Amino acid sequence: MSTYPDLHLYINGEWRKTARDLPVLNPATEEEIGRLPHAEKSDMDDALESAEKGFKVWRQVAPIDRANILLKAARLMRERQEEIATAITAEHGKPLSQARLEVIRGCEFFEWDAGEATRTYGRVIPSAPGVRYIVHHQPIGIVAGFSPWNFPMSQPCRKVAGAIAAGCSIILKAAEETPAGALHVARALHDAGLPPGVLNLVFGTPAEISDYLIKQDQVRLVAFTGSTAVGRHLTILAAQHMTPVLMELGGHAPVIVCEDTDVEAAALSGAVRKMRNAGQVCTSPTRFFVHESIFDEYLETFVRRAAETVVGNGVNSGVEMGPLANERRVEALTDLVEDARASGAEVMTGGNKIGDKGYFFEPTVLANVPDTARVMQEEPFGPLAMINPVGSLDEAIERANSVPYGLAAYGFTNRADYVDRMIEGIEAGNVSINTLEASLPETPFGGVKSSGYGREGGTEGLHNYMFTKNVSHSLSID
Ligand code: NAD
Repeated sequence: MSTYPDLHLYINGEWRKTARDLPVLNPATEEEIGRLPHAEKSDMDDALESAEKGFKVWRQVAPIDRANILLKAARLMRERQEEIATAITAEHGKPLSQARLEVIRGCEFFEWDAGEATRTYGRVIPSAPGVRYIVHHQPIGIVAGFSPWNFPMSQPCRKVAGAIAAGCSIILKAAEETPAGALHVARALHDAGLPPGVLNLVFGTPAEISDYLIKQDQVRLVAFTGSTAVGRHLTILAAQHMTPVLMELGGHAPVIVCEDTDVEAAALSGAVRKMRNAGQVCTSPTRFFVHESIFDEYLETFVRRAAETVVGNGVNSGVEMGPLANERRVEALTDLVEDARASGAEVMTGGNKIGDKGYFFEPTVLANVPDTARVMQEEPFGPLAMINPVGSLDEAIERANSVPYGLAAYGFTNRADYVDRMIEGIEAGNVSINTLEASLPETPFGGVKSSGYGREGGTEGLHNYMFTKNVSHSLSID
């Protein structure tokens, strides 16, 4: 029995259908699984009015009460884990086991920010007698949030949790390809007692919605996760209105494998992690720089494990990798592989679309890929690994930094001096050693260079959703 939900917009605490709707497809079967209401201008007017009312109410709610609503919503989502995971797999394609983990991660984002809501401390600045300087943090206002399709539920959770914990209201445009994840987040908050207007969920034509929202004086923050090209466009629009932005954009993560590491363990971990979410993760390990003395062994182990990846419909047990999320990704990957081959790269395994139903693509490993190949510069966002030999750590760090991206980076070594050189030398917002995990609720996540700015998570996360106010209080008129 399908548990895919009936899709709605959510405005002013009410579920809404519209005159126009769009099909939602299952990427494993290409079958239509739902119809998504499309917001028109009048819906956006209502969402804005509702967010204004919601902000007036919510900013007055005590942090502990905001936290309790987030915690109750997280409990509900944990109870509904199976229903939400099934919907994610149907609309996105990832294996059910990964969808279940995504639901838990989304809940953890809620739980972390609930705690942070009660700890947005200000400070008192030492002063002369008779005067006090007090710094405190206030919610920034209405947030326009845009979440992508690669994590249909946990990505909306990040933005919604940040805004709600800080005392803001939010209009979230979640991804049209994968609306059910965001809908379940709204449903849990609705059931947990979130006042009307604090969260509004819309879908439609992305450019129309972002153009509409960013122009509004009442919108005080644009929070976007997606491609660097779209992020840059939205940042330019926001700059015209002096509206701050939180941009979580693309990555092209380097993995530096040093000669002292456990080669087999590092290669197996790389191959498994690369294929998670079919490589459609902004922190996905992508450009592997392996010391030449261990290169052959690493490559052979990696290729063998990548080729063994079980690909199929995510609902079937044992499947490790589902289809790509949409037809655009299949075309993009096919082009990148062809270009790399023409540039002289060796295709060690994969490289092709699988079958003629669904957006399946083979786990793909390229070796000895010249820097002139497009794939060494452009984010592949798919199950594609490029493995190249390097002669030294200095060379690896230089090549790691040679792209415009700086989101996640990884290193494998047991040498303290190598770790230190990587931490100091790699240009990235997140550097992970001996692990391919880059983002947890309690750690700040975000990029440098074209990967964006601002941080989500950690103690830093809520600062984006607040502004700092200094109060000077003289005890007598001076
Ligand atoms: P895309 O650039 O067309 O869209 C990326 C996201 O931005 C989508 O969610 C889309 O709905 C949204 N979007 C597009 N135009 C918009 C606009 N004018 N206003 C507001 N939102 C807009 O690319 P795509 O084909 O959907 O995805 C492929 C690329 O997106 C990948 O190469 C990857 O770099 C990037 N991406 C990144 C992440 C991430 O987590 N950083 C997630 C998904 C996609």
